[in-house]
Amino acid sequence: MTRNFFTVPLLAAAVAASVPAATKPKLVLAVVVDQFRYDYLTRFRSSYTGGLSKLLANGSVFTNAHYDHFPTVTAIGHSTFMSGATPAISGIIANDWFDRGSGKTVTSVTDKTAKILGGKGEGGASPRRLLVSTLGDELKIANGTTRVIGISLKDRSAILPAGHMADGAYWFDASDGTFVSSDYYFPDLPGWVRDFNAARPADKYVGAEWKSGDGKVVYKKMAPTADAAFYKSIPATPYSNELIEAFSERAISAEQLGRHDSTDLLAVSFSGNDYVGHDFGPDSPQVRDMAIRVDHLLGKLFQYLDREVGMANVVVVLTADHGVAPIPEVSTARKMPGGRMTAGVIQSTVQAKLTEKYGEGKWVISPSEHSLYLNLTLMAEKKLNQTEVIESAADAALTIPHVFRAYTRDQLSRGGLAADQIGRRVFNGFYGQRGPDIMVLLEPNWLFGAKGTTHGTGFGYDTHVPIIFMGPGIKAGTFHQRIAPNDVAPTLATLLAVETPNGSVGRVLDEIFLRD
Ligand SMILES: [Zn+2]
Repeated sequence: MTRNFFTVPLLAAAVAASVPAATKPKLVLAVVVDQFRYDYLTRFRSSYTGGLSKLLANGSVFTNAHYDHFPTVTAIGHSTFMSGATPAISGIIANDWFDRGSGKTVTSVTDKTAKILGGKGEGGASPRRLLVSTLGDELKIANGTTRVIGISLKDRSAILPAGHMADGAYWFDASDGTFVSSDYYFPDLPGWVRDFNAARPADKYVGAEWKSGDGKVVYKKMAPTADAAFYKSIPATPYSNELIEAFSERAISAEQLGRHDSTDLLAVSFSGNDYVGHDFGPDSPQVRDMAIRVDHLLGKLFQYLDREVGMANVVVVLTADHGVAPIPEVSTARKMPGGRMTAGVIQSTVQAKLTEKYGEGKWVISPSEHSLYLNLTLMAEKKLNQTEVIESAADAALTIPHVFRAYTRDQLSRGGLAADQIGRRVFNGFYGQRGPDIMVLLEPNWLFGAKGTTHGTGFGYDTHVPIIFMGPGIKAGTFHQRIAPNDVAPTLATLLAVETPNGSVGRVLDEIFLRD
C-alpha cells in the first residue's frame, strides 16, 4: 500500500482510526435503514450515542432529501440508492407488478432461471430485472479486484443495491432462520455462510423478551422453541437487525472487505425497522426503540470496521428507502386528515363502470390496489378504442371519495401531467413496458389496509429520508438544500473516480468534498 502524504490534510476531519489511512477509501459501507423517516434523526437525537450519533457529528448531513418517484416502496428505494436512476429508467417500478406476458404478478427480483441456495430453496431471485448499472458494477468494471456484497433481510434489499456484477447478495429465510443467496452468484453458498448458518444464530433469541430501554415494558416475548412460528416472528423484532449486523461482520472478515487494492463495497439494509413500523406506526415507542437500537448496531459495526480496516479508510453513506404515513387513527385523533380505504374499492368501481359502459367481461386483470392493468385483449375483441376505455376507468376512479388523482398510460407516456412534484414523481415512476394502464393516488394520510400503516405515496412523510455521508475526503456539516437519493451514486462515483452508473439522473453533491 503506497501512502500519499499529500492527501493527509484531506483526512484530517475523518474519524480517528487505529489503522493508517490509504490514499483512496478501501471500503464503501452503504447503509439503508428500511422505513427510517428523516424525522427519526431529529426526534430521537438525544437518545443516539452510537453510529447515528457519529454520522450526525462527523458527516455531511442533508436535512431535505426527498425521493422523486412514485410509488415510494422498498425495491425502488434500494435500486435508486446505488444506481441514481428513477424507476422510469431502472425498470424497477414497484416491489411487484403484473406481468402481462405471463398474466402473473412478478417481484422486482423474481427470476425463474435462478435457484435459491440454502433455506427452503423455493423460487429464484437475481438482479436481472434491473436495467441499469450500480456503483458496485462500475467499481468492478474499473477494478478487477473490487469485491461487492449486499446483505439484508429482504431479497430485493440485498440484490438491487449490490447490482449485476456483485460477488454475492444474502438475505434471510424467515422459514428456517438462515441466510440464503442465489445460484446467480455462485453454484454453492460460500463456506463462511454455511458455517454461520450451521451455528443457528437466530436460535439464541428463543424465549427472548424485547423490552423498552428502561426495561419496564415488554414489547414482545419470543416463542419458547425454535419452530416455524418463532422464525417467522423474527423480522418484526430488533433481533432481525442484530442478525444482519452479525452477518455483516462475518462477511467483512471472510470476504476480506477493505483489504483489496481497489475500493470494495458492502451494502447493508436493516429491514427490521420496516416490519415494526408497519405494525405500530411512526409515533409508537416500538419504532423509537428500533431507531435507538439501529444506532447501537451501527456503532458496533463501525467499531468492528475500525479494528479491521480503519474507519479513516471507510466511506459510509446512510439513507432510508422510503418513509411511512402516520397510523390513520392517530391522524384522526390529531384532527388531521387521513383514513382507511375499503379494500378493492378502486378495482370494483372501475370494473362496474366499464361493465356498464362496454358490457360484461373481466376488465381489471391485476390485483394491486392502485396500479390497475386493464384487459387489452377484451378491448380488442370488442373493437373498442383503448385510450377511451382507459380514460373511462380513470374517470370512474376519480368518483371515489379520497381519491386524489388518477393518471392514464397515455398521460404518463406523453408526459401530459400536472406540472407539480406529485405529477413529476408519478412520471418518474412509470416504465411503459411494465407499467399499469392507470395509476390511482389517494389524498395525504389515506391508505389501504385495515390495521397498521404503510408507505408508497409521493407526499413528504413517504419521500423525506436521511442522507448522510462520512469518511475520508468528506466534510462534517449540515446542508439544507433540496436533494434526492438519486444524488448518492453519482457523488460516490465522483469521489472514487469511477464511471457514474449509466442510468443516474442525480447531481454530484460536490459541496460535501474536502478540497486541498
Ligand atoms: Zn422498505
